[in-house]
Amino acid sequence: MPRILTKCPQTARTVPTVLRMREAAFEALSGSHAFRCPACNDIHHWEKGDAWLEGSPVVAAGAVGAPGAAVAA
Ligand SMILES: [Zn+2]
Repeated sequence: MPRILTKCPQTARTVPTVLRMREAAFEALSGSHAFRCPACNDIHHWEKGDAWLEGSPVVAAGAVGAPGAAVAA
């Protein structure tokens, strides 16, 4: 099952959250979720608009470098 990835606001690095889920479950996700960031060891909150599934095309777009571009609506 793919991990959910998000971007650390402190370091701008892509970091894995503690969650893993299928794409269908991720699409149905709502609300805010907290995790301890492995990059800066702080607690961050993320929502679906801030995160993406490991291996999804969004990862490639994010790697090109568009800070905050993944935050949609
Ligand atoms: Zn962080």
